[in-house]
Amino acid sequence: MKDVSQEPLPLLAGRGAESHKGDFGRVLLIGGAPGMAGSIAMSALSCLRSGAGLVTVAAPAASAPVVASFCPVYMTVAIGKAEDFRESLEAATVVAIGPGLGENWDTLLPLVLAANKPTVIDADGLNALARGSMLENVHARCVLTPHPGEYGRLVGDASLAAKATGDDAERVEAAGVLARRSGASGAVLLKGARTVVADGERHAINKTGNPGMATGGSGDVLTGVIAGLMAQGLGPFDAARLGAHVHGVAGDLAAARLGQISMIATDLIDELPHAFQRLD
Ligand code: AMP
Ligand code: MG
Repeated sequence: MKDVSQEPLPLLAGRGAESHKGDFGRVLLIGGAPGMAGSIAMSALSCLRSGAGLVTVAAPAASAPVVASFCPVYMTVAIGKAEDFRESLEAATVVAIGPGLGENWDTLLPLVLAANKPTVIDADGLNALARGSMLENVHARCVLTPHPGEYGRLVGDASLAAKATGDDAERVEAAGVLARRSGASGAVLLKGARTVVADGERHAINKTGNPGMATGGSGDVLTGVIAGLMAQGLGPFDAARLGAHVHGVAGDLAAARLGQISMIATDLIDELPHAFQRLD
């Protein structure tokens, strides 16, 4: 695999004066079961802060109002209402599935994959993929964002799983293997310090970020960022690469302001605007 870490970061095109929200995508984020409503709310807010035009959260009926109460900007829909969910999925230009989804909604993943849209699969979406042995159903517009634990469940192979926590070369190898195994997967983003992004033919290692980001919810923010970038036209590999970079810069800004001990995931969302401004 070719190392493209030194190549310039992919960037978003500037906004034309006549732009309207439809130009920047309609993102459907699926997750936030009772007790984990905050997960998908953080993804949705991060997605908005990353420039998505319209954001809708699909959450179980019991938690959808809780998700809605966190933020007035995104919309919510109950995933149990099959017709409403189907309409939201059809209208979406990008889908993200997994943060706080729990174990009761594995049936949604085949529907999402069949829709064949640019898709981020994270957290319980990855666990559903592993439980359903659906890796070969993953398509070329998908980004998979496992941490090493989720990676291990996906590959089901202890020696490969161990490489996911190894040195850079081992982690690149591990990410590449998953990218090649998962159908024609668009990109695999293997989390950790020095996150690896790979699509089977090329890879990049992200250098931004710090151990203060080892805190609950950090990954939910990243999911929203990548979905927001895809909504604005970046392909899976570019969105994952730029997303990892911006997410890490937001983490570095949060650490500078608050320290690695006290920073929490919502601080990353607060720093996203500043992280994006640094790209200019
Ligand atoms: P998750 O485990 O899904 O919450 O994701 C954690 C996020 O924080 C990922 O994007 C990781 O790459 C990032 N992260 C966690 N620990 C570190 C670290 N020590 N250095 C840099 N980034 C980290
Ligand atoms: Mg996570």
